[in-house]
Amino acid sequence: HIPDDTLLYLNNVTVSFDGFKALNNLSFLINNRELRAIIGPNGAGKSTMMDVITGKTRPDTGDVLFNMSKIASPGETKNLFGRSRLNKGSIDLTQYDEAEVANLGIGRKFQKPSVIESLTVWENLELALKGRRSPFESMFKGLSSTGSKKIDETLEKIRLKDRRDLTGASLSHGQKQWLEIGMLLLQDPKLLLIDEPAAGMTDEETFRTADLLRELSEERSLVVVEHDMAFIKALNCKVMVLHEGSVLAEGSLDHVQQDQQVIDVYLGR
Ligand code: ADP
Ligand code: MG
Repeated sequence: HIPDDTLLYLNNVTVSFDGFKALNNLSFLINNRELRAIIGPNGAGKSTMMDVITGKTRPDTGDVLFNMSKIASPGETKNLFGRSRLNKGSIDLTQYDEAEVANLGIGRKFQKPSVIESLTVWENLELALKGRRSPFESMFKGLSSTGSKKIDETLEKIRLKDRRDLTGASLSHGQKQWLEIGMLLLQDPKLLLIDEPAAGMTDEETFRTADLLRELSEERSLVVVEHDMAFIKALNCKVMVLHEGSVLAEGSLDHVQQDQQVIDVYLGR
């Protein structure tokens, strides 16, 4: 039985590469509007976990269930892209490819930003918003007033309102990361997967990013992979430690930092 407030449920997921198990019976739940931090040594399976959720890698065994019951429109209750739903509105993401998973409301932010440097902040956001529409609409329609309002709201959220007319190239590393997050937000994701957002950021940017992600979790779920402990502390959320493709420990940061196994394989290095 899956609790009602679950958004994402990985159940005994195993992924092997040439017999080596990158994920080994990995199971965990993410709730609606939850912010979750994931830590673990290099090679623990963090990126593979994200690949499995986003349809990039198909697991050998296990389910990746995504709860659509609260988010699908009424006409979609029977099936999505021709595939059936499970468990009262959950769907198994392993049946979908990357583009389909993105359309189901799962956004992924890679470490390397895809911001277009020659375009302004506003134009980058406009492009991200238009990406949702059909090519026909994008070609013949300008930005609607609701569209520009959405971009304005996003600019405010990502702390770039005063930089809207500056080019991507003129942004600091941290500001580029925020713009990238803004571009993902315009796709209305229900779940955002973010890989090492604080890497390369100044201390101030790191703390502002933690604030931003906490704010964003009021309206959606976020899974954040990070190594920076000051950043994780500022996120102030449940932490999960991955090791050899499974969950080694989970709980508050204080809790996992005191776990002897976690100290041995990760923190004590
Ligand atoms: P993390 O992101 O936690 O550092 P990864 O998920 O990238 O770990 O990798 C987990 C393990 O799986 C590593 O040992 C890595 O070498 C291996 N691995 C990941 N992707 C592949 C692949 N495409 N082919 C072979 N081995 C892989
Ligand atoms: Mg990785």
